[in-house]
Amino acid sequence: MTGRSAPITVIHMTTSASSPAGADGPAAAPGVTGTPNPAGPIPAGRVTERLVEANKRYGEQFDDPGMDAKPVLQVAVVSCMDARIDLHAALGLELGDCHTIRNAGGVVTDDVIRSLTISQRALGTRSVVLIHHTGCGMQTLTEDFRHELELEVGQRPAWAVEAFQDTDQDVRQSMQRVRTSPFLPHTDDVRGFVFDVRTGLLREIDPA
Ligand SMILES: [Zn+2]
Repeated sequence: MTGRSAPITVIHMTTSASSPAGADGPAAAPGVTGTPNPAGPIPAGRVTERLVEANKRYGEQFDDPGMDAKPVLQVAVVSCMDARIDLHAALGLELGDCHTIRNAGGVVTDDVIRSLTISQRALGTRSVVLIHHTGCGMQTLTEDFRHELELEVGQRPAWAVEAFQDTDQDVRQSMQRVRTSPFLPHTDDVRGFVFDVRTGLLREIDPA
């Protein structure tokens, strides 16, 4: 678990150019849209090359810590994919500490349950932390998104958009989905939070 600060810095610098308006919906493409970036704008189509170049530098500094795949803190964190949330920094996590499962909204979908089931049954995690956040792009969408998508492409997606208006209530629903899953052996330590993207602080949501 030593020597992670330098690699994390490199990763942060390559991905920190999120839009101030910050949504994580389909329109948001942090780092690609020419928004302010410490290293300057990236020409369209070049972002992956930049990441690969950054990885070469990461590899040069990388010192294999010889870790087991089982998370040291036995915790899985489910969070929105929002570019403004640096989970490891925000939660004081080190490399190897936890599983991070991220999607649009940080909602507990069947696929999140799949990952949590593997996390708990095969890789020894026991606690679940759920994180939504202020200013989430999912609050700007409705299930009409699916309908409009169907009209455009001629095929209705099998998945629900899982949009929400009330962030606190969606955290409660997510906690409930985890707690009631028949596949998860550990549901006694499930806590939910809203991360404030302006202050960097978590606010815990009462499950009741
Ligand atoms: Zn979000």
